[in-house]
Amino acid sequence: MPSPRPDLGPKPRLGYTQSRIERAAELRPDDAAIARLAAQPNAGAYVIGGDLIVIKKGAPLNEPLFTLGEARALGAAGETVFLGLLKDAARFGYGLQPAEAETLKSRDDLHVTDLRSIAVQGLVDPEHLPPIAEAKAVLHWHLRDQFCANCGAPTQTVQAGWRRDCAACKAEHFPRTDPVVIMLATSGEQCMLGRSPRFLPTMWSCLAGFIEPGEAIEDAVRRETREEAGITCGRVTYFHSQPWPFPSSLMIGCHAEALTHDIVVDRAELEDARWFSKAEVETMLARRHPQGLTTPPPVAIAHHIIRAWVEGEFGFD
Ligand SMILES: [Zn+2]
Repeated sequence: MPSPRPDLGPKPRLGYTQSRIERAAELRPDDAAIARLAAQPNAGAYVIGGDLIVIKKGAPLNEPLFTLGEARALGAAGETVFLGLLKDAARFGYGLQPAEAETLKSRDDLHVTDLRSIAVQGLVDPEHLPPIAEAKAVLHWHLRDQFCANCGAPTQTVQAGWRRDCAACKAEHFPRTDPVVIMLATSGEQCMLGRSPRFLPTMWSCLAGFIEPGEAIEDAVRRETREEAGITCGRVTYFHSQPWPFPSSLMIGCHAEALTHDIVVDRAELEDARWFSKAEVETMLARRHPQGLTTPPPVAIAHHIIRAWVEGEFGFD
């Protein structure tokens, strides 16, 4: 018999999703329109230097949005990316050199930290997380892709930060997104969780891996589960996706039906993997596991994939 649906309270928000910003991609080629929007007093910018996000200290929440004038006073922009419109107010990503952002750590009025800390600790209103993720991913691409992959010549930014063109060979380069499958293999009332050596000692999570060229999502789920844990999977269902700007992934969340039971851990990828009962996972989600074991925090899609299964939303029986 399946266990009764547990009461885990209201569903938390999935981090970096549900952006309120309309990307307004049709404005990107229009330099004059972008300049007009940037000159409006309601324009705002998120200031990012590599992995570091610059926010203004405040209480109870910090303020991540700067005027463009304030942003320029912090340092010269490497690139400025038009993120879109919040109603009629333009939003930009303002890219500092990482070393420049590092020096701002000494300022008393600023908090300069990484996006994971901001998201997990709730340092800003969650509505800012999607545009910060958008800005961070595109600005990271600018930092890393300044030369043409086709001929090696320097490229120039066009389309309000959304394309780099090569004048020498005419190639057009676009910001990349790397698809990653992240899945929970289940078998009846059990699911398999794994541990990366990078995790906190008490944390267990879904397995994950990059989709390879020429590979379907379902096949990547089956391959990664077999490679990392030796489990063969059958049916795969899609759950949700999540931008994961570390630096530019798209997490594709799935549930997978495990057809075999014996786990063979790939120690190059995982520290450990084992089966958990639904009842044990419920205590981990609720943070009342007797040994203090946990799932990832609600900002991560793994939390939601695991919770959906515990709550009986998914199963293959
Ligand atoms: Zn070129």
